[in-house]
Amino acid sequence: MKKPLLAQKLQLSSGIRRKTASHLRHKKALTGLRACSRFFVPNLLRPFSSRFSLSTAISGLALLLLAAVFPARPARGADTGDIPDGIVRVGILDSSKSASIELRGKTKIVDLSSGRQQQLSERSKMSVCASGGGLKFGDDILGPVIRLTPLDGEDRLRINERSYRGSIVVKTNPDSTLTAVEELGIEEYLYGVLPSEMGPEWPLEALKAQAVVARTYALYTLQGASEKASFDLCADTRCQVYGGASEDPKAVEAVRATQGEVLLWNGRLVHAFFHANCGGRTSPSIWGGDMIRPLMGVRCPYCKESGNYKWSAFFSQETLLKFLSSLGHDAGRIKSIRVVKRNSGGRAVKFKFSTDAGSQTASVKDLRGFLGASEFKSAYITRVTTTSKGFRFAGRGYGHGVGMCQEGARQMAWNGRKYKQILKFYYPGAKIACQD
Ligand SMILES: [Zn+2]
Repeated sequence: MKKPLLAQKLQLSSGIRRKTASHLRHKKALTGLRACSRFFVPNLLRPFSSRFSLSTAISGLALLLLAAVFPARPARGADTGDIPDGIVRVGILDSSKSASIELRGKTKIVDLSSGRQQQLSERSKMSVCASGGGLKFGDDILGPVIRLTPLDGEDRLRINERSYRGSIVVKTNPDSTLTAVEELGIEEYLYGVLPSEMGPEWPLEALKAQAVVARTYALYTLQGASEKASFDLCADTRCQVYGGASEDPKAVEAVRATQGEVLLWNGRLVHAFFHANCGGRTSPSIWGGDMIRPLMGVRCPYCKESGNYKWSAFFSQETLLKFLSSLGHDAGRIKSIRVVKRNSGGRAVKFKFSTDAGSQTASVKDLRGFLGASEFKSAYITRVTTTSKGFRFAGRGYGHGVGMCQEGARQMAWNGRKYKQILKFYYPGAKIACQD
């Protein structure tokens, strides 16, 4: 019979403590802005992927020597629950009823409510779920918050069949669901963002531009992150898509080549939005507080060869009537739909529906949200055509249109442009600076 993980049921008490608030961590990080160096001390606690090339291995050896001379950053305060500076918390599961956890090597498990810990050395797989205010972890009952830290570099944790390289904190919520949060360095986080946000087969200079943009976006988000929130960044399209330790060597190369580089405007981080395709013109920021020169929009001649440059989608009378009904406007037939307000970048802001029951205005945000962003690809509407059974919307681009146009960046890289040229084109006036 399997031995219990911890000998006795542990007390339920406090959750994770945070040594410093996110904005303070970030403020501290920004004071380190400097010209970028290509030499840095690697995080020795997180060895890199075995897929690295020989040259990477050689440079890794050189870096190990450097690390012997310069002190590496301090180890995390895993036993106490403190979160050290420079670590981001990524929500990889939220409101899940249970999760499967696979330990692929030596793993330290700490119950953060009591400080009790144990090291497991064998590979094992178990499920975790909420139980009586605590966590049922395999056959053991633990406190409400635990941290799992893989101790073997190449043998990582797997949660629901996906690999992660950082430590994982699992906690119960008041509704008996689970939240799982990965804690890892910002650069390592980016290794898992690039392959999801821009295919690893994309040209290196475009990937490097994406690395700077994704780093800036993440750090900007950290500025506003709440100390009380369970995590700083989510792992889906509401933030940036993060695929865990599924990084590709080329994506890792792009992150390392731009290590620490961010976009600044007047000494402050740019809210570095990006999107798939702008349709020929990027949009001025559609969110308040971001009306700064780098986010005012540019004409983009680089994305027109992509399939996302133009789109059209048909929606039936029935579907659109349901949308109007969701706004409280009940009608039997829609006579016409037209754009009645656009922003300075040509994006539709408001539609007017004329029906047999009068008229109704609706925001493009609500309409797109109802019809689905993958079909109704953008607010850059060029035409609405009436048919016998419904309406056909024609538009350009894919996504909100603010910031870097990814498919334009890809074409610029194919044309021989360097990543800094790409960034300066899409974020005019922004400075590329480096932070430790
Ligand atoms: Zn474009």
